[in-house]
This record gives sequence, structure tokens and C-alpha cells, in this order.
Amino acid sequence: MNNVFYYRGAIHIHSKFSDGTGDIYEISKAAKKAGLDWIIITDHNSMDIEEGFYNGVCVIRGEEISPEISNHYLALGTNTVIKPDEDPQKYVDEVRKQGGAGFVAHPDEFDSRKNKAKPIKWLDKSIVPDGVEIWNWFSDWADNFNDKNIFQIAYAYFFRNRLVKGPHIETLKWWDDLNKNTERIVPAIGGVDAHALKISKYILPVKVFPYEFCFKTLANIIVLNEELPLSFQEQKGIIINAIKNGNNIIINRQVRDEIPCIYNFDKHICVKLSTKADIKIFCDGVHIYEEKSDIMQFKVPSIGKYRVEVYLNNKPWIYSNPIIVK
Ligand SMILES: [Zn+2]
Ligand SMILES: [Zn+2]
Repeated sequence: MNNVFYYRGAIHIHSKFSDGTGDIYEISKAAKKAGLDWIIITDHNSMDIEEGFYNGVCVIRGEEISPEISNHYLALGTNTVIKPDEDPQKYVDEVRKQGGAGFVAHPDEFDSRKNKAKPIKWLDKSIVPDGVEIWNWFSDWADNFNDKNIFQIAYAYFFRNRLVKGPHIETLKWWDDLNKNTERIVPAIGGVDAHALKISKYILPVKVFPYEFCFKTLANIIVLNEELPLSFQEQKGIIINAIKNGNNIIINRQVRDEIPCIYNFDKHICVKLSTKADIKIFCDGVHIYEEKSDIMQFKVPSIGKYRVEVYLNNKPWIYSNPIIVK
């Protein structure tokens, strides 16, 4: 392999310009503390935040196009605010027209939720997006949060990682189907959906899920053959392009924080990890192989789109984007 550079970042963040609580200084400081190189802030229907370098972090402005009850869409690499519409196809098209890439946010939130936060879903799966947020940390937590009594609430707060179960099966299936129906890669991202909400219902005001904590959950690791240049505009362009092309690996840092290597070399899917874990290989959406290993070289039996899932002690850990083997 040639030189490879890894840049760790977080996507799907809300600031004071929508329903988050932090300004750009607080958010970027938290990102720096969490060891991130870049972040993408996606306020609801707003692009008011000033992008640039803050606290040594490349802060990129996106938008979460957010109709009130459904069909949230993360627009990355767009120039102007895109208004929500009853017909999602309209904003899917508009994101493309502006040269950006759109990712369906939390497409399959559970209807069976045992709390007051209503699920927000992608209602019409025949509308084809540019990409899919296959895993949203906050949404996953909220899907499993039971607010029946103070004990359940305390459990959900103090053992928050136990509530997080990984991407929903139906989301992975839809993403695989989207990939089956096209030559290109339909990329995936992991989103933190960070708000750092302040809740003062119980005695003292607490900030639930502060930004720094969120940034230590789901990261997207961008894989590049060159170092990022110094100029903000160039960095931004390269980061957005990497995400558009699926050159990112999603990792749950709460399971184990590391930079995993997953690549195709000479018709082998190669995976290198710092510890032995359960590695699953999927070809065109079908689970075809599984091995417990830290260094794996899997010879592919045919051409196709391959992707990798890794579980450590049965916990969802790493999700790769599809790799086309010709
Ligand atoms: Zn949303
Ligand atoms: Zn959001």
C-alpha cells in the first residue's frame, strides 16, 4: 500500500443556531479534547454558523434539512440553506444541484419507543438519497430509552452505552439494496447527533450528553493517500469528497478507540486491528464469511461490492463502506 493518512471526525452536530446548546468555540474545543481533526455541524434548516479552523479543528458547515415530523436529510457540501418541503425528492434534487451530498438521517427510528421523543423516519424508501446515516448514536440511545420511572432514567443515563445497539437491521438492508441497484457506491456515515441538551427537571440542571462525550462515540475515519493541505477550503473539499465517495470507516470509540485498517489488496479484503474481534464480510448485501482475528486477508470468491462489520465482545464496533472488487 502507498502512504495512508487517517483523519478522525464527527458528523451531525447541532449548535445554538438550532436545538443544540453550544457555540462554535465550545463545540470545537470539545472536538479538540476528543482528538478529532474535523467536524461537520448540521443545524436544523440553518447554515448560520461560520465555518473555518477553530481550536485547531476543521469545522465544516452542513445542514440537517428538517421537516417537522419526518424525512430528515443531512446536506453536506452545499452552499445555501435548503428549505424543507413536503416532498423529500425536492431537497434530494436540490442538494445534488448544489454539488453536495445528502445523507438520510436516522431513517428507521423505532415506533416502539418507551419515551416521549417521537420517531422521525424516512417515510418513502423509493426516494433514493446520495447516502445513508446507517448509525446515529443519539437516535439509537433514544430508541432504547425507557422513561417510565426514575430508576430506568438513571440507568439510561449512567449506563448509556448499554442502550446503544448498533445500526438497525432494516437500515443496513436498505443501504445494501441501494448499493445493489447502482454501479456507484452509496456511502454511509455514522452520526453523533450531538445537542448537549440542558435538562433541569431533576434538582440540578444537567447537560446530558455534552459535546465532548458525543465526540467520543461514533467517529468517521477518513482514509487519504496524501496529507491534508493547510488551507481551509482545500481541506473542506477533500473531506467532503472523501465522505461522498465512501472513503470513511465508522467506528464506535466507546467499544475501543483505534484507527482500523480495511482495504482491498490484490482481490483480498484486508483487515488489521489492534485486538482480535469478530470480523464479518458481506458481498452485495449477503453475509458470506466470518472470522475471529486481528489480521485478516480474505480472498474474494467473485467480483462485487464488499463491506466489513466488526464486533468486539458482541458489541457493534466498526462498519466499513462498500469496497468494489473488479
Ligand atoms: Zn434529525
Ligand atoms: Zn439532528
